[in-house]
Amino acid sequence: MVICCWISIAEAEYFKYKDPKQKMGVRIKDLMKRMTLEEKIGQMTQIDRKVASNEVIKKYLIGSVLSGGGSVPAKHASPETWVDLVNDYQKGSLATRLGIPLIYGIDAVHGHNNVYKATIFPHNVGLGVTRDPVLVKKIGAATALEVRATGIQYAFAPCIAVCRDPRWGRCFESYSEDPKIVKLMTEIIPGLQGDIPAGSRKGVPFVGGQDKIAACAKHYLGDGGTHLGTNEGNTIIDAKGFFSIHMPAYYDSVIKGVATIMTSYSSWNGVKMHANRFLVTDFLKNRLKFKGFVISDWQGIDRITTPEHANYTYSIIAGMNTGIDMFMVPYNYTEFIDGLTYLVKKGFISTSRVDDAVKRILRVKFTMGLFEKPLADYSMAKYLGSQEHRDLAREAVRKTLVLLKNGKSLKKPLLPLPKKASKILVAGSHADNLGYQCGGWTLEWQGLSGDITEGTTILSAVKKTVDPKTQVVYSENPSGNFVKSNKFDYAIVVVGEHPYAETFGDSMNLTIPEPGPSTIKNVCDSVKCVVVLISGRPVVMQPYLPTIDALVAAWLPGTEGQGVTDVLFGDYGFTGKLARTWFKSVDQLPMNVGDPHYDPLYPFGFGLTTKPMKNL
Ligand code: BGC
Repeated sequence: MVICCWISIAEAEYFKYKDPKQKMGVRIKDLMKRMTLEEKIGQMTQIDRKVASNEVIKKYLIGSVLSGGGSVPAKHASPETWVDLVNDYQKGSLATRLGIPLIYGIDAVHGHNNVYKATIFPHNVGLGVTRDPVLVKKIGAATALEVRATGIQYAFAPCIAVCRDPRWGRCFESYSEDPKIVKLMTEIIPGLQGDIPAGSRKGVPFVGGQDKIAACAKHYLGDGGTHLGTNEGNTIIDAKGFFSIHMPAYYDSVIKGVATIMTSYSSWNGVKMHANRFLVTDFLKNRLKFKGFVISDWQGIDRITTPEHANYTYSIIAGMNTGIDMFMVPYNYTEFIDGLTYLVKKGFISTSRVDDAVKRILRVKFTMGLFEKPLADYSMAKYLGSQEHRDLAREAVRKTLVLLKNGKSLKKPLLPLPKKASKILVAGSHADNLGYQCGGWTLEWQGLSGDITEGTTILSAVKKTVDPKTQVVYSENPSGNFVKSNKFDYAIVVVGEHPYAETFGDSMNLTIPEPGPSTIKNVCDSVKCVVVLISGRPVVMQPYLPTIDALVAAWLPGTEGQGVTDVLFGDYGFTGKLARTWFKSVDQLPMNVGDPHYDPLYPFGFGLTTKPMKNL
């Protein structure tokens, strides 16, 4: 009898926060009331997959896990393997006293780029060329489906940096040097998250359902404006310039209900963004009314102080006072948790600041329906690398191409190329290399070379496109004599930059590496050639122009190489217009449209057009 009544009393306890019929505010309040300081600090902690486990999550009450910098479980992991992995962590969370689900984040910055067989879309530098918000919205929606197919609910994208200097190693993650284009491209956010319902309150995060994910506008603020394009450097500019160049895309992201915003490693006039209370709390949260959560970058607070003066206690205080809500402390999470707990208990950090952070994180989790459906199943696996998404990526590639030169004289254009020819040459280090075609942030942080996933290289796309009677000869780096001794009708030379990410991509000379330049010379000196350039930014091209007949900037197109041949061979016309200024020599940098001494090789907005063959 006694046993029976105890159970029924326990069962009778009503947890308002678990009841989806309750208003979100009521649920948050109810949950907050029940949480201990340890549980709150756990919610604010994001750790890397490599150190996470079901047990660690339970023990430290961790609120979020990430796959940082391409930390993939296994090279060929299937979507089902990913689902199991994410679910296993989630089960750790669900087994805690309050069962608050965790949120799993990943850098899905051009499609679900850490995952084998995913559709890899062109990097942002190409998408800016399209100036097509409808297209990027569709890309966002496709990316969300592929991310959900692996059980993941959160992407650290889009990067809405306004890259003002191509020497920056992350320029390819930026849509444009022009704030207006970057602002236009924030339309990827409703693609990833869904359209905010009419009449929503400004700044409230919105993630509309199981086929959508939380987005993250990054890196706040001024990451693309650093002196000499130095990654994590200092953006030296007055407030008017800073706000008018770097802020517009954030206004729009907040209006579109972006769930999270990541602070930048960079500084503004010497003040680290991870320690800039004015911009994060006063401006973003109070003025723009951003109600999602602010996340630090990877070990971002560690870098508030220089290594010689490392002082983690100071870093935690500065980060908290700045207004950061979730801390990406991938490996040193115990130090963070102990430090913050101590600082709050001693009164150095207010409990109201902790509560502000936790409420924001919970709001995103409630909005996403994570409490109702924390565990993923395999039902969405079919979306990963689906034909529909590959077709969309191929369409995107077509629209990202910019035709910079077409024929030695405009009267004799080389493009579109004839599909029917007796013998053609395809050459260059990038012609048959999917890894190079995709660039950095593809299966590995720094990208890879070769046959890294499923997709179509430009060489195989050429073979699929030309007339069956056309002989395609492929030579990666042919000698001049080889080219001369063959009678080619024309050549396609595909060269460019090798993949890189973040600081590893910073470059002071912006030259394409060998053997690119010699391949151009060996081929183009002897036969009519089109050079297809694979690069994350404009690079030095002027010296090669006299020998090149046609030049196409293809940026980092991703897995669907057929998008390139669709346009080269005239099934579609060239439409792309530069969203960046193409410099003559690096000593001109930085040089952006509107600058007083603007003297580019190709100006911002430049791009020749061709008509599709069927219309000729
Ligand atoms: C990058 C971020 C990225 C994070 C997590 C950092 O190094 O700056 O853009 O989202 O790592 O991988």
